[in-house]
Amino acid sequence: MSNINERFYELHQKSAVLSEKSEELFPDGVTHDSRKIGPFRVYMDRGLGPRKWDIDGNEYIDYKTGHGSMILGQAHPAIVKAVSEQVAKGTHLSASTELEVKWGDLVTKLVPSADKVRFVNSGTEAVMMAFRMARTHSSNTKVVKFKNAFHGWADGPFVGADGDNEQNGITRSTRETMVVLPYDIAEVEEALSGGGIAAVIFQGNQVIDPTFIKQLRELTLNTGTILIFDEVVSGFRWSRGGCQGLYGVEPDMTTMAKILAGGLPGGCVAGKAEIIDTIASNKISHPGTFNANPISAAAGSSALEIIMNENIGETADARASQLKEGLNEIFTKLEIPGTAYGVSSIVQVQLGSDEDCDLTYGPDPNKSVKGYDKHVIEHLHRAFINEGLWANPLSLILSATHTKQDIETTLEKYRTALINLRDEGAI
Ligand code: PLP
Repeated sequence: MSNINERFYELHQKSAVLSEKSEELFPDGVTHDSRKIGPFRVYMDRGLGPRKWDIDGNEYIDYKTGHGSMILGQAHPAIVKAVSEQVAKGTHLSASTELEVKWGDLVTKLVPSADKVRFVNSGTEAVMMAFRMARTHSSNTKVVKFKNAFHGWADGPFVGADGDNEQNGITRSTRETMVVLPYDIAEVEEALSGGGIAAVIFQGNQVIDPTFIKQLRELTLNTGTILIFDEVVSGFRWSRGGCQGLYGVEPDMTTMAKILAGGLPGGCVAGKAEIIDTIASNKISHPGTFNANPISAAAGSSALEIIMNENIGETADARASQLKEGLNEIFTKLEIPGTAYGVSSIVQVQLGSDEDCDLTYGPDPNKSVKGYDKHVIEHLHRAFINEGLWANPLSLILSATHTKQDIETTLEKYRTALINLRDEGAI
């Protein structure tokens, strides 16, 4: 057994036992695809700020940050207070609450294109509702999306999310409602000129030269097509007003989740009043037991208030720049083909390839860059965990609680993990 694997077993013995039990209960032993780690899962116990501890007592610096929802770090005192107070007052009052009004108001203040808001429970639900509203408002059926873009796991939005692989269980008639295109404005123009398109959806956290986003807006305005920004990840992160705030491009509709709900479940679709109001005019039914539940509303409104008033995004962005620069130095010094790139506070890494890679916008989004093999990346992931880094080696999501010293420590750990892999001959 390699040293990395031996150490992984030694450090995580309680997790190994729990992993075995989980495989009897859950497919692949997990409850979210991205939590699959071989040879077994590591179980987390608690988190504070940028740190987490597993059930064997190992400490980690966290770069998965609640799949991007925890820009305020784990257990932020204001969120703990807001949620604790609300739990004591009731978790579901089966009625409208003052908190949901405060939460919705903050969304409209922060997000430039948000006139009106409807709360749902996740990003997946937000996109489902956005499609339904766009179809109702436009009377067209098809939605244009971009290849590999991820908009949640619902049938239509998932089409084309996994390259050319077709997802089992999605009917042909649903596939036919989606038009999956490369990031090529001429192809979008051609698709829109054919008519029948209800909306174009763009993933706000897709790193791409913003000229493309501006052209997309122009084209959709000229053809009267609804433009949806999926800001589930970029919302309240790319800027206080998300991707649209950063680039000054206003879509007609926006889907949000993650940071929106302060680390609890929650999502929303927001946008032009006349489109969001398709619900109110009774053209769309929308129940949902936990929509804007008081706990998510308490956490979400507290989080958005903090984001409005403090330098949360700015701090996370500065730490991401420090991490990016440090990683690029490491790749050069170790003579490992790699580039760290990315917008705002998510650092992405192209590893094992010398393919052109812009330091902000990454490689050409239409090219599939062949980097290190998936097994090498999985091994690097284990090496990270051994070093006390909780991170996807190719995508590190920061919070405002990471300190400059945390980044220094992280760089040292990333470097050690790479050297350990090299010592084993894996790279
Ligand atoms: N849209 C984007 C861009 C996402 O990254 C995600 C999830 O990561 C979703 C939608 C789905 O959100 P959720 O996981 O809350 O359903």
